[in-house]
Amino acid sequence: MAEEGHEQRRRLVLVAAPFQGHINPLLQLSAVLHSKGFSITIVHTQFNSPDPSNHPGFNFLFLQDGLSDHDIASLDLTAIVLVLNDKCQLPFQECLAKLVKEQETRGDQIACVIYDELSYFSEATAHNLKLPSIIFRTSNANTFLARSVLIEMYVLGRIPLADPLSQKAVPEHPPLRQRDLPISSFGPMKNFFKLLGNARDVRRSSAIVYNTMDCLEGSSLAKLQQHCHVPIFAIGPIHKIVPAPSCSLLEEDTNCMSWLDRQAPSSVIYVSPGSLASMNETDILEMAWGLANSKQPFLWVVRPGSVHGSERAESLPEGFREITGEKGRVVKWAPQREVLAHNAVGGFWSHCGWNSLLESISEGVPMICRPSFGDQKVTARYVSQVWRVGLHLEDELERGEIESVITRLMVDKEGDEMRQRAMDLKAKAELCIRTGGSSYNSINKLVELIKSF
Ligand code: UDP
Repeated sequence: MAEEGHEQRRRLVLVAAPFQGHINPLLQLSAVLHSKGFSITIVHTQFNSPDPSNHPGFNFLFLQDGLSDHDIASLDLTAIVLVLNDKCQLPFQECLAKLVKEQETRGDQIACVIYDELSYFSEATAHNLKLPSIIFRTSNANTFLARSVLIEMYVLGRIPLADPLSQKAVPEHPPLRQRDLPISSFGPMKNFFKLLGNARDVRRSSAIVYNTMDCLEGSSLAKLQQHCHVPIFAIGPIHKIVPAPSCSLLEEDTNCMSWLDRQAPSSVIYVSPGSLASMNETDILEMAWGLANSKQPFLWVVRPGSVHGSERAESLPEGFREITGEKGRVVKWAPQREVLAHNAVGGFWSHCGWNSLLESISEGVPMICRPSFGDQKVTARYVSQVWRVGLHLEDELERGEIESVITRLMVDKEGDEMRQRAMDLKAKAELCIRTGGSSYNSINKLVELIKSF
């Protein structure tokens, strides 16, 4: 018992990266580790800071990130991450040194620093203060491997691709085609590869945590481990392990839940491009009429500012709301985990962000994949070709094609078969986190490692 009392007082410092798809899993990981008896301090930037009032059990500290309005308005995510890593190092040094100094008075000892792979500035500071560190990767093993191929191609001068939409196979990484490689469209290529190199460098960190699971990526994880000198822990799907409150940066429109209550089981298609992807006016027009013509009930997230080229406040086509009426709901931000868990939802049109994928299969919901950039393209390929729980909507958006793909997923036998496979994956994911499952065991090993520091 005395031993346990001692462990209760150990503190973990978790360093977030300022994007919704990174904040959510980091706070979920924090909730898991809190349930294992650790005290939690979350360090985050001013930009996109999470709301501490949703997490009364954690301490929150912010860093002066030095991002200018111009940096933020540029929407160049690569540049934003590079600037942050440059500017946050010193404030983090001061912040962590203060935390270390205060640990005697606080009565808890810092066990280690766990940092998002995009906040790699954290490692040097942890090392200077003689604290161990662990990397948290919020994306997946397949993307990590695909990035290795991408880097090799870049070194050989084969990037940018002669044809970005090339169907040519990537022999080092089946079933990817060149068009599925996780390239980012933000800023100059050399910045993107600089960021990739920095984020994948393990430096002196002691372990890597992935929000993924053996039943999805077992062979890729084994391959990664073979080439990695520190242990890799696959502990996903993290959001299913302990209940974690919402960490939404935008206000969730919960009114859609009562609308969902009025819909038939598995009838609704939920549509969301995540927190970063954007569309042009033509795409949104085609999507709107494709959805309307499909006659399927829909819940559609249209984030403010996500339609570029649109001068109008209302991005949806004229007459759309009148024609679709009660058949559809459009919201600015949805309580996505609850939406996907609702029995009225039968399909998810997704950009294939990794959190969205995990949230979808955790509820047995099949997908229509419309990736934009980076890891989304790898995930979409796996969804359609390997796990076979979704349809990949490629090339230009066109209303007739959209109507047909929605019908295939929501009405046809093909969709039923995908729903069944998604339900099978849901069951496998549940086994992973249950006592004795692969993620359950990995979490325990991770906790043992942290306690051994
Ligand atoms: N999300 C949400 N409401 C929305 C859209 C997205 O709560 O209307 C959440 C979603 O549940 C997920 C996160 O935002 O946890 C998006 O992360 P993901 O990795 O799927 O994509 P990203 O936004 O990073 O591209």
